[in-house]
Amino acid sequence: MLNYPSLMNILSKITWIRWLFRDPLPVDHQDLVLDVGCGGNPHPRADVLCDKFIEDSQRPSTLKVDDRPFILADAEKLPFRDKSFDFLVSRHIIEHIREPERFLNESMRISRKGGLITAPSSTWEKFFPFRYHLWLIKVENNQLVFVRKEREVFDEELSQFFHTYRGPLRYIVGQIWTQLHRDALEVRFLWKNKIRYQIHRANNTTQEKNNNPIQNSKELPKIGINHRSFLLTYLRRALYGSRKFNYEDLLVCPFCKSNFRKKSKSFYCVNCHYHFPVIKNIPILLNNRTY
Ligand SMILES: [Zn+2]
Repeated sequence: MLNYPSLMNILSKITWIRWLFRDPLPVDHQDLVLDVGCGGNPHPRADVLCDKFIEDSQRPSTLKVDDRPFILADAEKLPFRDKSFDFLVSRHIIEHIREPERFLNESMRISRKGGLITAPSSTWEKFFPFRYHLWLIKVENNQLVFVRKEREVFDEELSQFFHTYRGPLRYIVGQIWTQLHRDALEVRFLWKNKIRYQIHRANNTTQEKNNNPIQNSKELPKIGINHRSFLLTYLRRALYGSRKFNYEDLLVCPFCKSNFRKKSKSFYCVNCHYHFPVIKNIPILLNNRTY
């Protein structure tokens, strides 16, 4: 039976193929690439994967890992050394971030050359009610412009088009339609050296608490992880090869950016004296109050 998750899985494979042929990243073979907020569909060219959540109600597909290093970390406090990567990919995460300037500054800090940021455009927000998106995003004069989404801009009449279809067909038609009109619906921002941006927010929105449900849990995350299919892993390696590096050498404390001392089951910050656990080979480089 074709349910919603399996449908998303098929669609993610189509996206993967699209990357190969339509959207190669502007990187050299030896460049080290980080995918921030990789979610259920990590970029095939990425060398290191990073996401804040194992499970996330805001994400349509489940997290998938493979043979690449995966790190649980916050995009606003990235646990990597200055200029530790050549290129950063972040797809459809920035519209969820409360303080996007923190992520943008972290991106400039850790990337040597630049990166690619994609997000749904403010036009796309009119077609679908993206309740969790905090920002209307567009590119103007080579700057990323964020306008705080204070109320829904979703247009009931525009969305009626998709309501003609029922069940899975509605998602399929929606996906095909968004692919066909991607240039209008998706912001694709390639940056080099520096990210130019403007953020417009109402005064009362800066102090909000992050209300993600996982945020309140004090327990360590239960890591039940889905592995990507062997075929995709093999294809990825065949197409992109692999680069020699030890990801542990790239890591620093997400809070004070000091060096770690590697312990058997944790990373210990020599400055904050905090032990960050490693569970099932995944470094949990978050504050324990935030997952
Ligand atoms: Zn520290």
